[in-house]
Amino acid sequence: MISKKDLNRDKKELLEGVISGQISSHKLDSLTDSKTAVMIRRFALEETSGFAFDHIQNFSIDVEDASKRNIENMIGAIQIPLGVAGPLKVNGEFADDTFQLPLATTEGALVASVNRGCSVVTRSGGSNVRIFQDSMTRAPVFKLENVIRAREFADWLKDPDVISRMKSKAGETTRFGEMVDVKAFVTGNTVYVRFSYDTKDAMGMNMVTIATDAVLSLIEDEFGAIPVSLSGNMCTDKKPAAINTILGRGKTVVADVTIPAELVEERLKCKPETMAEVSYRKNLLGSARAGSLGYNAHAANIIAAMYIACGQDPAHVVEGSSTITTMEINRYGNLYCSVTLPAMAIGTVGGGTNLGTQKDCLRLLGVSGSGTPPGSNAKKLAEIIASVVLAGEISLVGAQAAGHLARAHSELGR
Ligand code: NAP
Repeated sequence: MISKKDLNRDKKELLEGVISGQISSHKLDSLTDSKTAVMIRRFALEETSGFAFDHIQNFSIDVEDASKRNIENMIGAIQIPLGVAGPLKVNGEFADDTFQLPLATTEGALVASVNRGCSVVTRSGGSNVRIFQDSMTRAPVFKLENVIRAREFADWLKDPDVISRMKSKAGETTRFGEMVDVKAFVTGNTVYVRFSYDTKDAMGMNMVTIATDAVLSLIEDEFGAIPVSLSGNMCTDKKPAAINTILGRGKTVVADVTIPAELVEERLKCKPETMAEVSYRKNLLGSARAGSLGYNAHAANIIAAMYIACGQDPAHVVEGSSTITTMEINRYGNLYCSVTLPAMAIGTVGGGTNLGTQKDCLRLLGVSGSGTPPGSNAKKLAEIIASVVLAGEISLVGAQAAGHLARAHSELGR
């Protein structure tokens, strides 16, 4: 590890330049190699703050790659503990196997709880999981002269020839992305156009933003509608929104399992009826009373831990949090459980999926990079994550039904 006093003359000059403010921190990447830029920035911050970092310089990330694609003004890396839960049997169309699951979290008891849920789901025959929709959205906003013009615009957007031209225009910007739907929403003289794309193995937000930008110029040229903004928030990206819950965004995934009554009593130490009641009064009634968009126990916990481990954009946990969890007794007295995730924004290429530690986790699941055919890896990942959410929901509702929640947290999480 190089210390400040070991720097050669050129590097010392760069450091002094940053400390004095003569060189902007972000310019460093163009003045030296990325590794040196990271080091100089960190040293400068130590000088100006009077504080020596002990940890953030220890990492294995490829600085050159990360500085190009993932981060600006890089000074180091944050570490988050990574645990493993499983095995979890998944009966999906793309994920049809038994998996060990990487979870990155600082919440003690989370991995243990998911692990217990995995054991219950696996012993019940596995998680049955299907994807019902797969399309990423971007919705620009247009201001029209009046409602007559707004209606003409909405009608024009439905014309099959116009749709076909918009699809070709979007297709010019990407090898993999494909526009699949266009929906207009009108508010007075404002029109939001929600474009949906099949983004294959990419989560796709950059891809659909670039493609939609190209379509805007076609709309301006052919119809004369001027966009106010490339995103009008009807997308809706990284905000809780009913539109995503109703129409879906990214992947809409549903997973279920039926747990034999004896297994509920043996592993979860409670009766199936008690779990069904906790789920009804907590996940459904309690969430309705609270005005929540999420009707679940802690789906965001599992989604966050899997997203961070697997290089997903953690801001998309907000869409994942609108999961609906149901539990009911079937006619044989067993416990039927399901989770419905209306809007999962995930991918196995692009974003943070190229970083070394995240790639390790994707490899563990057998989904790193482009799938064969394209799109199959991201779908497999979606089926796996939905199944882990199912396991996590069962474990937590079981703990609450058995009155174990506070004890587990005081023993494992403090
Ligand atoms: P990206 O890293 O920008 O692009 C991924 C690219 O991988 C695709 O554009 C595609 O190139 C290529 N690719 C190679 N193999 C592929 C395959 N099998 N399937 C699909 N594409 C393949 O990633 P992105 O998914 O579009 O965007 C994710 C990033 O967007 C994340 O970093 C996220 O944080 C960020 N983000 C951006 C916005 C925004 O508004 N721009 C909003 C939220 C998040 P081609 O397109 O040439 O085919």
